[in-house]
Amino acid sequence: MVILPYWQMAMISDWDIGIKAQSVLEKQVNMLLPPLFPLNRSISGSGLRKTLNTLKKITDFDIIEIPSGTKCFDWTIPEEWNVKEAYIEDLKGEKIIDFKKNNLHLVNYSTAQDNIYTFDQLKKHLHTLPNMPDAIPYRTSYYQKSWGFCFAYDDLKKFKKTQKYHVKIDASFRNGSITMGEKKICGKSKKTFLITTYACHPSMANDNLSGLILWILLLKTLSSRKTHYSYKFIIGPETIGAIAFLSKNKKLLKDVIGGFVLATLGGSGKFGYKQTYLGDHLIDSVIKKSFKDLNVDFITYPFDLNGSDERQYSSPFFRIPMASVTKDKYYEYPAYHTSKDDLSFVKSSHIISSLKIYLKIIENLENSKIYISTQPKCEPMLSKRGLYPKIGGSFNPKGIKGNTIYGYDVKEINTIRALLFWSDGESSLEQISQKTGVPITRLFEATKKLENINLLKEVK
Ligand code: ZN
Repeated sequence: MVILPYWQMAMISDWDIGIKAQSVLEKQVNMLLPPLFPLNRSISGSGLRKTLNTLKKITDFDIIEIPSGTKCFDWTIPEEWNVKEAYIEDLKGEKIIDFKKNNLHLVNYSTAQDNIYTFDQLKKHLHTLPNMPDAIPYRTSYYQKSWGFCFAYDDLKKFKKTQKYHVKIDASFRNGSITMGEKKICGKSKKTFLITTYACHPSMANDNLSGLILWILLLKTLSSRKTHYSYKFIIGPETIGAIAFLSKNKKLLKDVIGGFVLATLGGSGKFGYKQTYLGDHLIDSVIKKSFKDLNVDFITYPFDLNGSDERQYSSPFFRIPMASVTKDKYYEYPAYHTSKDDLSFVKSSHIISSLKIYLKIIENLENSKIYISTQPKCEPMLSKRGLYPKIGGSFNPKGIKGNTIYGYDVKEINTIRALLFWSDGESSLEQISQKTGVPITRLFEATKKLENINLLKEVK
C-alpha cells in the first residue's frame, strides 16, 4: 500500500460537498432566506430572538440571555428594544413612510414618538442617500437615545415643506436582555478556534443574513464530525455581543488560538479575505492555501480597524487573531447597508461556494502539521550531530558556489535551520514554507530526520 504524504492526502478529502449534498444544501438555504430576511433584527428584542430560534431548528445550540444592565468591561448591556409600529403620515392620515413595508425605514433603536412636527422640525430626523436615490439606507442609534426614519431620496418629494406631519413610533425599551447563541464542538485537542457571526442587521441579505446562514451550516457540519481541534460557535449582536462573550468566558479563552468572523458571503462578486491583525498567523496561511487548493481567485484585504468583531477579539488583552472570508465584502459593494442588499443580491449557490471555502479552511487547519523544537533555548549545536560543517567561517549564504560545503548539502542545512528556528509549537509547516521559501515537501522530509535525533517533535 502506498502511503501518501499528508499534503496529498488532503486532496482526497471527505470535507468536500458532493454535488447531491450541494443541491440539498442550496434548497435548505432557499428555505431559510425568505422567512429570516424581514425579521426586525437589532442588538436585542424579539426579531433577534426569533432569528436564533429559527436557526436552532437546523441544528441545536444554546440560547443565552444576558440581562440589561450587566456590566461587560467598559460597556453595559442596553435595554431591550421592541417595535409594534412606526410611520409618518400627513394630517389627513395618509401614510408616507411605514415601518410595516420595510423595517429599514425606522432608525434602529428609535425612541417612542406620537407627535405632530413641521417639515423643518422633521427633516433632521430623515435619512436618505442622494447618490443612490431609490435605496433606503440602514441607520442605527444604539447608544444615544434618538429617533429617525430612512427612505429613498426619490420619496422626499412626497413631503411638502409647508405641511405638518404626524410621527408615530410605538417602540418600547425595557429591562430585558440581549440574546446570543453558543455551541462548543469538542475535538481531541483543547486548542480552540472561534467561529462567530453577528445577527443584528434587519432586512439585508449579504450583510449579514448570508453570514448567519453559513454559521448554522458550518455548525451542523462540524457537529457531525470528529475533529482534532475544538471549535466554539458564537452568534449574537455585533460589538456588544462579542464584548459580552469575552467578558463571560475568560476561562475558555486561554485555549483559543484564533478564529473567524463570518460576514457578507453570498454576493456574486469576488471572494476576499481580511487578514488577521498579525497577517501571517496559521489562519492566514491556511486561508491562502485553501483558496489555492480550490483554484479560487481572491482579494486580500489587510487588517483594518474598520470592520466587525475582530476589533474586540483581537483587542490588547485577548489578541486572538481573527480573519474573515467574504464574497462581496462589506464596504466594497454599492448596495452595502441599504435596501438594495436584498434577496436578489444573494444566491444560495454563492453561500454554498463560501461554505466550501470554509470547509476547506477547516480541513487544512485540521491537517496542518505543527512541530516544536526540543532545544528552544538558543540554537541546538548542529555540528556535533553531524548536520553542519565543523570548519567555521565557511558558511556565507551569499558566497556559496555549488550545492555542498565541506560535503554538507547546503539546501539541507538551510531547511534544518529554518525548521529549528520557526518550530515554536504554533507555526505550521505551511507557514514556515511561506516565511522561508523552502518547499513544504523538503520541510516535511527534514522533520523526519530531526524527529529521529530528538530535535523536533510534533505537537498535534
Ligand atoms: Zn453591517
